[in-house]
Amino acid sequence: MNTDVIDHDQAAAEALAAEKKAAFEINKLSKRLHRQVGQAITDFNMIEDGDKVMVCLSGGKDSYAMLDILLNLQQRAPIKFSLVAVNLDQKQPGFPEDVLPNYLRSRGVDFHIESQDTYSIVKKLIPEGKTTCSLCSRLRRGILYRVAGELGATKIALGHHRDDIVTTLFLNMFFGSRIKGMPPKLVSDDGRNVVIRPLAYVKEPDLVRWAEHREFPIIPCNLCGSQENLQRVQVKAMINEWEKRYPGRIDNIFTAMGSIVPSHMMDKKLFPFETIQATGVADAGGDIAFDDDESCATPSPASSVITLQR
Ligand code: SF4
Repeated sequence: MNTDVIDHDQAAAEALAAEKKAAFEINKLSKRLHRQVGQAITDFNMIEDGDKVMVCLSGGKDSYAMLDILLNLQQRAPIKFSLVAVNLDQKQPGFPEDVLPNYLRSRGVDFHIESQDTYSIVKKLIPEGKTTCSLCSRLRRGILYRVAGELGATKIALGHHRDDIVTTLFLNMFFGSRIKGMPPKLVSDDGRNVVIRPLAYVKEPDLVRWAEHREFPIIPCNLCGSQENLQRVQVKAMINEWEKRYPGRIDNIFTAMGSIVPSHMMDKKLFPFETIQATGVADAGGDIAFDDDESCATPSPASSVITLQR
């Protein structure tokens, strides 16, 4: 047989195999994303029957993915809830006003675009060169809370993911001297709204791949001209570097956030250290006094990673 024909057949077979593999991987990713979001919703009772969920859309990959997944889950959920997508157009120069409405219409989603020129307010009030994010996000928060009330939304969904949550934990430790993360579900600071984070269990790299696959029309997030929060960038880089050297570390930290042992911390508000007395009853959760650190004494894949890093 002609060698050209053989080469051509082989190339076609390889292309077909690659296509099949890519489709398999995307199918796996899709299942994982929907399973993790469904699990987070269930674990924290994020969405209840009859809820109207206001899905905050910034035009970034995370919020597009959140809406996309919630729309799919809505079809299969055993409960009834509605979704309304909300974008706050802060009038930043160059913001492409048509992108989100066009996308949302194409998906048949109920939506609301709130136009408020917070950009000018921030520019007027914050001196050149100073960080604008804190005032900007305070203004945005107030507006979104108000809009939620006006739309009759019972939940406000934000697109923060697992990596955002872990990064926030370290930011609060490093710069705020507090062990405080980002909750999957909490009442808002004005006391009037319940904020949920359905992507809490989702890894950022999965969202990057999903956004590419779904070809979301991403709107760049640097239109305001503000530098991304440098401390957040640095902490994120540190965490990603750990993950590269010790795969699974972000998951371990994330899991630890749901497994806190107050008696082995130092917060007197969480554990009554001042009043404890010996009970005479053995308790595996008590102090192991002169033993080695637990992670050194009983190595496991996760704990040996911790030991290595010390
Ligand atoms: S990056 Fe820009 S839009 Fe985002 S919070 Fe900061 S000032 Fe506001």
